[in-house]
Amino acid sequence: MEQHHHPVQGLSLGTFREVVSFHFKGQAACGPKVYIQAGLHASELPGLLVAHYLREKLLKEEENGSLVGEVLLIPVSNPVGLDQTLLTYQMGRFDLASGENFNRHFPSLVEEVALKVECELTNTAQENVKIVRRVLSDLISKRETVRAVDSLRNTLLQLSCDADITLDLHCDCESVLHLYTHPSSIDDVMPLAALLGAQATLYALEQGNNCFDEVAASFWAKLQLRLPRFPIPVPTISVAIELRGQLDVSHLLAEQDAERILDFLRVRKVLSSPLSIEMPKASHEPTPLDGTEVLVAQKPGVIVYLQSCGVYLKPGDPVVDVVDPISGQTTRYCSGVEGVLFARQNRRYAMPGMDLAYIAGNSPLGRGSLLSA
Ligand SMILES: [Zn+2]
Repeated sequence: MEQHHHPVQGLSLGTFREVVSFHFKGQAACGPKVYIQAGLHASELPGLLVAHYLREKLLKEEENGSLVGEVLLIPVSNPVGLDQTLLTYQMGRFDLASGENFNRHFPSLVEEVALKVECELTNTAQENVKIVRRVLSDLISKRETVRAVDSLRNTLLQLSCDADITLDLHCDCESVLHLYTHPSSIDDVMPLAALLGAQATLYALEQGNNCFDEVAASFWAKLQLRLPRFPIPVPTISVAIELRGQLDVSHLLAEQDAERILDFLRVRKVLSSPLSIEMPKASHEPTPLDGTEVLVAQKPGVIVYLQSCGVYLKPGDPVVDVVDPISGQTTRYCSGVEGVLFARQNRRYAMPGMDLAYIAGNSPLGRGSLLSA
């Protein structure tokens, strides 16, 4: 294993932060390249602990000679957000300097790459992947950033832009394990959903605002549209893994999740060691992200959930009450779709406009923005 340090630029005087990456390589290094990062939303900690176990386990795989490909692991991908403590609360989702969500606005660089590769591309898809990755990596390395948040995004892009498998470890407020992916990755991602015991897999061509896992796949899909006369595949399986809720941090869960991720790498022939369990069946069919019903608070009050995460709902099933103890009124919110209640708030006071619950319906609802702030 090699360890590399990537200083974050654009910081205040007298401060220093860095992204630390761990590189595991098989002797032949002829297999796929896997990129795994945790904590881009820095207050989502289950992934950091999973990364801790992944590191231990990958070291053993490397020592045993069962690593065929290459794995790049970043246990703490957002040291800027991890250090944002405000009035005793850790604020790791938004960059306090700019107000931007750390997991938005990743540059996709489609046009810049298209202009440079147009005269080089061939009739062979695999050859084109190599050419595009070389040009993309070169462009990213030459990008000049000013703000820390952009420096961080650029570093993560640089490290991941040639990965065949990209796993971005997140979590929700309170939730069951679920996945976000690009339509091009669905078939390849469902074995991962099955191994992890995910209860929903949500897919979208564009989730909105260029989040990390979206850009990894949509870059290729957009390049394909921009240069239709050349064969350009989507060579990256890109997925965000929502490792349950923010408080679901335990040795037991993290160790199991790490082992299941390694099992997925065994399925993908990144590791030659045998699966640790018999391959399970996925509990669900993937659903469009646009089919997700979001129950939104219309009035302020105390949130009282009537259903636990993981419950399968039918239209009309009551999900949550918001109680106003001054007027004595209770506003009840019911499911409008059939599907699993996969996430809900971890706070219990609602302001008007707050998302209360997410239900994975299977018919597109025609919503605008598909991700929460
Ligand atoms: Zn997140």
